[in-house]
Amino acid sequence: MTTKKQPAALIEECDVVIVGAGPAGLSMARALAPSGMTITVVEKNDQATLVDPPFDGREIALTHYSKELMQKLQIWSKISPEEIYPLRDAKVINGSSSYQLHFEQPSMARGKPANSLGFLISNHNIRRAAYEAVLAYENVRFIYDHSITEVNNTQPDTIEAVMDNGQILKSKLLIAADSRFSSVRRQLGIAAQMHDFGRTVIVFRMRHTLTNQHTAFECFHYGRTLALLPLEENLTNCVITINNEHVNQILSMTPAQLEEDIKQQLRGKLGEMTLASTIHSYPLVGVHANAFYAQRSAVIGDAAVGMHPVTAHGFNLGLNSVGILARLINEAAQQGRDIGSKNLLASYQRHHMPHTRALYHGTNAMISLFTNDTPPARLVRSLVLRVSNNLPPLKKLISLQLTG
Ligand SMILES: Cc1cc2nc3c(=O)[nH]c(=O)nc-3n(C[C@H](O)[C@H](O)[C@H](O)COP(=O)(O)OP(=O)(O)OC[C@H]3O[C@@H](n4cnc5c(N)ncnc54)[C@H](O)[C@@H]3O)c2cc1C
Repeated sequence: MTTKKQPAALIEECDVVIVGAGPAGLSMARALAPSGMTITVVEKNDQATLVDPPFDGREIALTHYSKELMQKLQIWSKISPEEIYPLRDAKVINGSSSYQLHFEQPSMARGKPANSLGFLISNHNIRRAAYEAVLAYENVRFIYDHSITEVNNTQPDTIEAVMDNGQILKSKLLIAADSRFSSVRRQLGIAAQMHDFGRTVIVFRMRHTLTNQHTAFECFHYGRTLALLPLEENLTNCVITINNEHVNQILSMTPAQLEEDIKQQLRGKLGEMTLASTIHSYPLVGVHANAFYAQRSAVIGDAAVGMHPVTAHGFNLGLNSVGILARLINEAAQQGRDIGSKNLLASYQRHHMPHTRALYHGTNAMISLFTNDTPPARLVRSLVLRVSNNLPPLKKLISLQLTG
């Protein structure tokens, strides 16, 4: 990469630059902040969006491990208890069959008594709380309204990130948390496997007259998938996954048509439905970076692994990446070692990648099976549900993935 000659005044130095103030970038800033290192977070959105992020339709299912990490980072305590919804149990249904794969309410999770598989929290609330948790630290500086457009990591001891206004940020380590479509990852020369599912996920909240029993449902109907995420007893987040060619049929519906459509899909299970939020859609593209680090740089969150949302692993893996990398950096800083050394970054990859690869490919294989509507695939789907239900070790393994 070429280095642009810049006037000295345009160069600013710090220990760590984090690109992207999404939930992963903010959690990383908070995890490093107590070390006293100087940290600069660059975010292309404006400050008002970070202070009060708008509702984006995403309800994030979090594992017990993620809860523990968010508690440790004092993010959890900044979310109102009324906005943290316990996910008691979950059921999976194949097509029109009444057979259900049931993940029951656990009694233990991570060695402690528990009465839920996990927790549902709106993405905008996680983002707001994570931002608030970082604000207490004076050694963390935010640059809003600007993007990183170029990276130069040819120097042995420092890395330079060039902003869209020409300013250069020089640091010992750069962490890219700039989404699954990360341009910084590309700048760093890190290749990624991308899988375009050719489908879109549409999300919105519905109020209903009958109870959801705090149970999540994943209904693999033929042609489309409908997931139900229980919030309050009569308030549910609906997640429709559908081929791109049919997306507009849903998005162009009036609220009354959508309410009737969902009621029909559920055969009245939740009674009368009323749309209770704005509607949001996300194209489904899975991404797995081939490496999680390059010279003096690392990728975290969706920039490392962007999962299909069906198994609800995305931000949970993002938090795992924060937990692993922040521990290594903080230890190095405390012991006066180089926080951007190749050894440290390779150790991050060694600890994180085996788990992400298995989940990424396992999830994609499951999606291929459950979105294939040919008669043999339907039969295999039904068999998979029955085997999973009746083989306690397999069911336990899946439950462990859900609870973390
Ligand atoms: C419908 C849906 C449901 C989901 N459900 C779940 C779930 O149940 N459980 C779960 O764990 N996960 C779930 N996820 C995944 C979860 O939302 C993501 O994993 C998480 O939001 C990723 O956070 P991030 O910080 O890595 O990236 P992002 O949230 O994408 O943030 C990236 C940030 O970087 C900024 N940025 C980008 N480029 C630049 C640049 N060049 N310079 C400066 N800033 C830049 C962006 O403005 C943005 O603020 C779901 C996702 C979807 C779409």
